[in-house]
Amino acid sequence: MKRVLLAAVCVFALPIFAAAAESSGTAWSQKWRAENRQWRAYHLTSPSGEKLPLTKTLIADVLAPMGINVLIVEVDYGFEFVSHPELEGRGLNKRQARELTDVCRQHGIRLIPLMNCLGHQSWGARPGALLRKYPQFDETPHIPLDDKKIYCREWCPSHPDIHKIVFDLLDELIDAFDADAMHVGMDEVFLIGDKHCPRCKGKDVGELFAKVVNELHGHLVGKRGVEMLMWSDRLLDAAAMGYGKWESSATGSHRAIDRVPKDIIMCDWHYELPHQYPGKPNGYPSVRFFQEKGFRVLPATWRKPEAAVALVRASREGATDKMLGILFTGWSNGPGGEGLLRALRDGDFEKAADAKAVKRAETARGIAAAIKAGLKELGPRAR
Ligand SMILES: [Zn+2]
Repeated sequence: MKRVLLAAVCVFALPIFAAAAESSGTAWSQKWRAENRQWRAYHLTSPSGEKLPLTKTLIADVLAPMGINVLIVEVDYGFEFVSHPELEGRGLNKRQARELTDVCRQHGIRLIPLMNCLGHQSWGARPGALLRKYPQFDETPHIPLDDKKIYCREWCPSHPDIHKIVFDLLDELIDAFDADAMHVGMDEVFLIGDKHCPRCKGKDVGELFAKVVNELHGHLVGKRGVEMLMWSDRLLDAAAMGYGKWESSATGSHRAIDRVPKDIIMCDWHYELPHQYPGKPNGYPSVRFFQEKGFRVLPATWRKPEAAVALVRASREGATDKMLGILFTGWSNGPGGEGLLRALRDGDFEKAADAKAVKRAETARGIAAAIKAGLKELGPRAR
């Protein structure tokens, strides 16, 4: 009887606890929005479980005291997915994810998980977890795995079975991190609408790209009620912007811009000074362009302090209430931000073992310098 009673208590108590946790997350989000008019965001590659203490130190001892108030954690397939264990994801588990969220919240930082959708499904010859397990989703299966010309593989935007799996993964990350927003990546997509894909050939690339954005939006914003962020390079016309084919699109995907919802937050990344781009644009024209189109914009910088300052200045010119702030990206800085912690704390790098380590240390120093310069240019936190 006792056991039955206990079971009954558990059955009734669980939804209450779940609801309490959910409402405390919602309350925290509302408080964060009220207190943070300007985003000072950092993009971090998710740590492994064993590097989690280091990442907590980075957040508590360095990033929060500097004034960072958003942490975009790039998880991708580096997570122990319970919904799809066949992907054999390694990284944080659900408990550790929540720990990271809790540490962020204790320091006033909003955590937003990131999962690369559509593009970046391989790194060169090495497919990511999804295409390793489900090669039928590959947009270009006819290109051999060891082809040197391939940058990153993509999933087929027209495959009817892809979203069933992807939505499960996104749901799991939202729940694990108790997130109120999700970043879906979608940068540097080049292979979309491949002429050999039986489902995509002959279709308009702008239409294909918009289809994926709208389907993700329908699930994340429509069904889950969270905000959606994405890298915005594919929505910019390379011919009009002058950034070249990486930070803007030469595939026709830019035609999707008027076919996607305006409540998506556009992470507009530009890591160089304007005169360093092929078309030598006048400043960073996309920053204003997105606002004029009705989107909220979060301009993103990387490892060049002078470019970070220039981007912050550009973000002020003609800024509307759709200008959110600044995002410092942490590319090539290692999972969990170990290099950045060293660079920001004491700059003390052990004698680098090889050329790769020297490069990593230089990148970490560059990121640290860009954060310091960008925050200084931004000035004191607006409340
Ligand atoms: Zn296709």
